[in-house]
Amino acid sequence: MTQQGQTNNIAPVVIAGAGPAGSLMALYLAQRDIPVVLLEKEAALPVDLRASTFHPPSLEMIADLGYGVIDKMLARGLKADRYQYRDRRSNDVATFDMSLIADSTRYPFRLQLEQYEFTRIVGDVLATLPTADVRFSHEVTGFTQSADHVDVEVRSPEGVQTIRTRFLVSAEGARSVVRKQAGIDYLGFTYDEKFLVVSTSFPFEEVFEDLSWVNYVSDPEEWCVILRTEKIWRVLFPTTPETAADEERLLSDEFIQERLQHLWRKDGDYDIGHRTLYNVNQRVAETYYQGRVVLAGDACHINNPLGGMGMNGGLHDANNLAAKLVRILQEGEDHIPLFEHYNRQRRDLAVRFVQEHTIANKKLMEARDPQEQIERQAMLMATAADPQKAKAFLLERAMINCVRDSEAQA
Ligand SMILES: Cc1cc2nc3c(=O)[nH]c(=O)nc-3n(C[C@H](O)[C@H](O)[C@H](O)COP(=O)(O)OP(=O)(O)OC[C@H]3O[C@@H](n4cnc5c(N)ncnc54)[C@H](O)[C@@H]3O)c2cc1C
Repeated sequence: MTQQGQTNNIAPVVIAGAGPAGSLMALYLAQRDIPVVLLEKEAALPVDLRASTFHPPSLEMIADLGYGVIDKMLARGLKADRYQYRDRRSNDVATFDMSLIADSTRYPFRLQLEQYEFTRIVGDVLATLPTADVRFSHEVTGFTQSADHVDVEVRSPEGVQTIRTRFLVSAEGARSVVRKQAGIDYLGFTYDEKFLVVSTSFPFEEVFEDLSWVNYVSDPEEWCVILRTEKIWRVLFPTTPETAADEERLLSDEFIQERLQHLWRKDGDYDIGHRTLYNVNQRVAETYYQGRVVLAGDACHINNPLGGMGMNGGLHDANNLAAKLVRILQEGEDHIPLFEHYNRQRRDLAVRFVQEHTIANKKLMEARDPQEQIERQAMLMATAADPQKAKAFLLERAMINCVRDSEAQA
């Protein structure tokens, strides 16, 4: 392999991947005068429809970044100050009012905003900071590390180069080449079925009474999640393991129209904005660091989207890890105990909390036994109707408890 552009300067931190986790971390470090190189393999920030819910602790962390990022997000997003669990057979609705947690957070709501809006807003700020060096079309292809540095191999239109850094952060998502090259196992499983997400401009709020912006809808024949982003309604449907291989059919107009008509029968076809079919995984990396290489976000944990904990967990990793990198680089603390602490705080939590909750959420949604569904809805209605129980439920689902637990972890 040819090596061009080998530099004698050692970058304090190189981050692979300008997704939500990498972007938050880059801004956190650059804001504190730590020069950071952010490498993104795409030619521009990806604009794909993925996560769209920001939980209260994530909003607090983003607000603390400064530069008006939170104000721009609040101006562009939709505030979901309540959300619902709906039973389609009985029409029972359990509504959780997020104002109940107003004494526990500055942002007692879920902000519905496409994740690419967040990375774009942060990207605009990074472009103005001398401490941030953002390089598009730069793909990390591997690394080697020694006791005091990491050599990061990067492929770009200018050729292949090596960037020497003190710390490499892998935030390149679930297919992280850094994690793979480090030989870190991604433990867990992939569900047999796929999830289908479609968007439509059809005004569901006009046909379902008192619909909130986030709705988990149970149904013995087909459960779904109906979410409003700042732009459009999005519906997530499960598919069956038996049909998983037939992507052409699952993505066909006919199949999608049938699903949407089953949700709400209307005259004529729905207009379909986009459609995505994806594999659903529950995985956590066996360790979150190896020497001077540290993982954050989907690079080290991935889960089903029920509850919106994937991207949010990645933002919480990034915030936690960035604070430790500041202590290492500005206060001279040893990196190994701090990375070990990061591993305990964030990995244990991913296993205990996020995996457990998201797996349980999916099981509850997909229960086929009518009695189980009746009991589930009754439990949710009783919880929502009791302010104390509803508050405890919200503190858990809004990820406030898990961030507190993670911070309290010695
Ligand atoms: C179809 C889909 C729907 C989803 N829906 C939801 C949802 O509803 N709710 C939810 O909470 N989560 C959802 N998720 C998960 C959520 O999108 C992720 O948790 C979140 O994007 C993780 O952020 P990240 O920064 O860790 O990684 P990513 O967002 O994956 O960002 C990684 C970045 O790294 C770049 N990159 C990759 N490889 C390299 C490389 N070798 N070198 C340099 N750059 C590289 C990529 O181009 C990308 O910009 C969904 C995911 C998918 C795929």
